[in-house]
Amino acid sequence: MTILNDVHSRLNPTRPHRIEQPTDIDGVVAAVRSARREGRAVSLCGGRHAMGGQQFGEGCVQLDLTAMRRTLRFCPTAGHIEIEAGADWPCIINATHAAQPDGIRWGIRQKQTGADALTLGGAIAANAHGRGLLMQPIGDDIEDCTVVLADGSVVRCSREERIELFGLVVGGYGLFGVVVAATLRLGERRRLERLVDVLDLDDAMNAIMRRVSDGCLYGDFQYAIEPSDTGFLRRGVMACYRPAPTNAPDPDGAGDLPREAWLSLLALAHRDKPRAFSDYARHYLGTHGRVYWSDSMQLSLYIPSYAEFLVEAGVRAANAPDESLVIGEIYVPPEMLIDFMDAARRILRATSVEDIYGTIRSIQRDTTSFLPWARRDFACVIFNLRTVHTPSGIERTHEAFRQLYDAALDRGGSFFLTYHRAARPDQVLRAYPEFPEFLKRKRRYDPDELFQSEWYRAYRLIGDETAAAS
Ligand SMILES: Cc1cc2nc3c(=O)[nH]c(=O)nc-3n(C[C@H](O)[C@H](O)[C@H](O)COP(=O)(O)OP(=O)(O)OC[C@H]3O[C@@H](n4cnc5c(N)ncnc54)[C@H](O)[C@@H]3O)c2cc1C
Repeated sequence: MTILNDVHSRLNPTRPHRIEQPTDIDGVVAAVRSARREGRAVSLCGGRHAMGGQQFGEGCVQLDLTAMRRTLRFCPTAGHIEIEAGADWPCIINATHAAQPDGIRWGIRQKQTGADALTLGGAIAANAHGRGLLMQPIGDDIEDCTVVLADGSVVRCSREERIELFGLVVGGYGLFGVVVAATLRLGERRRLERLVDVLDLDDAMNAIMRRVSDGCLYGDFQYAIEPSDTGFLRRGVMACYRPAPTNAPDPDGAGDLPREAWLSLLALAHRDKPRAFSDYARHYLGTHGRVYWSDSMQLSLYIPSYAEFLVEAGVRAANAPDESLVIGEIYVPPEMLIDFMDAARRILRATSVEDIYGTIRSIQRDTTSFLPWARRDFACVIFNLRTVHTPSGIERTHEAFRQLYDAALDRGGSFFLTYHRAARPDQVLRAYPEFPEFLKRKRRYDPDELFQSEWYRAYRLIGDETAAAS
């Protein structure tokens, strides 16, 4: 029997009833209708990188959208590309280039960092974001979606048409229908110059404002990870990107770490954290002033086999329990960032959970999704916690995240739902007060709960409990 699992954390083994991989809209409609006739629920997956079980359901018909990746339309005037939802980022970037044989004027505005084999459908479902300094999550870049609903009908939704459905599909975790295609708004593809500073968080806040007023479009702050060090979660490498002068040469692709160097840095992050940080900072400072293309600079190196890598690097014994890096992304109002990082420092030191790397980014208030994680402009703090796959190892990571969530919620913050199911229902409700209404609308659009996932099954009771309590 097939067991599916998420690519990154490998903590969601799930047995579907069967897997279907449609190649066009008719195939999706047929798969939805036949599951409905059989009385089986349907789960949707793209790149399978979500870690909270949003893409799989035990006993469900699994629709894998990754065979649907064709470009349907390109508008060079508006800079829009309509593309099937199973396309991942390398495919989307290639498609935008292929559509402009006479000169590439348009490129993607944002994608997730850290991995590339993530699909457009998955990005819309989580309402993902990248390193933009002044951007909303990706829903803002979506002009329209073509969706197969639970009754098998095919509809289009956008800011003008079926507006409510559009807001539910964006950030709707695959619970309202199958996105078969979407129109992505592109931005000017530019040469960007990287500007690097190594500084403390207290100075980074002002430095980032200066960078924004200098015209920087992208940026992040990668913090130091040695818990016993005074620089822990405080000292960091700030890399920002501003439009390069028009006469700047075309990027030559040099300047970023080759795979082997990147792997040895990752190994050092386990063995010698202070050196990992200083080597990383030295490398980054050496790339100050280099020029990159705004679209391809967002691509990342990814290691799908982290546990095997640790064995090869001599960090973990071959017969030790599996491990993975469980990600968490936590949001706080920018003015609360320093205070939150003080609390995070205390929590990580007290729980002794190892943070292998992490960054701070920024996000602007989401005006598209019904269930927004960016309820206001936030600073986003990302943690990659080393997690041993034993009940106590997993619980330790989850407990650290719950404490970090409480610290953020007490400071007016929130957290991302896509990375695991560690959050308690009361934390989900505090971060997402619209959650009970989101579930109600789910049942209005999908009364038989055709679209399900393990994540939905874990949290759908929140709606019932809230209704019973009121
Ligand atoms: C290493 C790593 C780095 C990451 N970095 C970032 C980041 O920088 N920023 C960020 O915002 N997120 C980030 N994420 C989270 C990621 O963006 C989301 O988990 C995203 O949903 C994964 O896309 P996927 O194609 O792998 O989707 P899957 O994991 O396959 O599915 C995720 C969700 O999308 C739904 N879905 C998939 N396809 C469709 C479709 N066609 N129609 C309707 N629903 C669909 C699924 O049902 C599920 O709810 C990262 C995750 C990892 C593992």
